[in-house]
Amino acid sequence: MSFIEEIAPHARKAAAESDVLASLILAQAVLESAWGTSELAQKGKNLFGIKGEYKGQSVMIITSEFVNGKEIKVNAAFRKYPSWLESIRDLTDKYVNGVSWNKDLYRAVVGEKDYRKAAWAVKNAGYATDPKYAEKLIGVIETNNLTKYDVNTKGVDLDLRIAIDAGHGNNTPGKRAPDDSMREFHFNSVVAKYVVEELRTYQGVLVEITHDPSGIRDIPLKERTDKANRWGADAFVSIHANAVGSAWSNANGIETYVYTSKPAGAVALATKVQAALIASTGLRDRGVKVANFHVLRETKMDAILVECGFMDNPAELALLKSDSYRRKCAQAIVSGLAKQFGLKKKSGVVAPTVPKEESSVDKNKPSAWAKKDWDEAVANGYFDGTRPQDNITREEMAVVVNRLRNNLLPLIYKK
Ligand SMILES: [Zn+2]
Repeated sequence: MSFIEEIAPHARKAAAESDVLASLILAQAVLESAWGTSELAQKGKNLFGIKGEYKGQSVMIITSEFVNGKEIKVNAAFRKYPSWLESIRDLTDKYVNGVSWNKDLYRAVVGEKDYRKAAWAVKNAGYATDPKYAEKLIGVIETNNLTKYDVNTKGVDLDLRIAIDAGHGNNTPGKRAPDDSMREFHFNSVVAKYVVEELRTYQGVLVEITHDPSGIRDIPLKERTDKANRWGADAFVSIHANAVGSAWSNANGIETYVYTSKPAGAVALATKVQAALIASTGLRDRGVKVANFHVLRETKMDAILVECGFMDNPAELALLKSDSYRRKCAQAIVSGLAKQFGLKKKSGVVAPTVPKEESSVDKNKPSAWAKKDWDEAVANGYFDGTRPQDNITREEMAVVVNRLRNNLLPLIYKK
């Protein structure tokens, strides 16, 4: 994928939000980051040389500036962004909101539909010190036919594209609980289904799955990543349950993976998803990790892989089997995506509800089917009437057994 293809979805999104031409944004990005090759773009996803910090993150770079028509070297702190989108939004925000001393400084750039006029408006507002800046922008737009990205009509969507991938197939060898009471695919695919449902409640999002939802075919990894790349996904989330091996273990917790090169956008997304998973499940935080997994390496977008708990740990397996836990994981993944991409809920859409927690069952009331027997057992003095739905301990069992024995002995001796 070319640099322009890579940043175009972000530029078009920011252009739609701000009414600044996408062609202008793209030309500025090309010119100022030398087609994304500048140290600043590589290290900080910073396309426009905006200085300072972004959410506390910065990168130190030596750069050249024009002062009185002369080029000089300057060492300074520049904003470090989680993805191209934040960098581009900083530029369009500047055009829309101006600067502290003049909020109308870039007024002529906003809403301008002629890229030549827009380029000159940027130059005339004093944006760049390069005296040839406007001509250079116009040259880049024309040479690369960037105006095609300004088209904002039917059939040209500005939607964010999210690829969801449930790992494995139903019959993939291994990939199951040690007692085969759950296949990993079953957990992965149900969570994937819930993620898709949740994402549909947000505006401007397209979702595609890269697995076979029937589980019959374990789609080869290359086919999965090819599909996401061809589709032009902006993000890729692969959903998994963990295991140490084929025997029971006490490994526990949740972890999220990014590729070994730690792409900034993927790390930012992984950090948000991991935090949301831990906050909503309360499981141990194993952190954001790196791995040379095919789906992370061969995808051209922000790609993460989540491991939502251990199938070979009996307690976590019970969670992985439960519908409420699956829904919780899905909602956490989506909340991480929403945070990363600034997604907004559609109006009038009711989000799928979380099924009632198994653990929130009222332990102090007997289930309907057991009520009669419970009341009788209480009336006969075997139980004290409290916590009918709680587990029984060995010592409680001893008390109950002795009560039973003491009640039965007189009956036996009477005969
Ligand atoms: Zn897996």
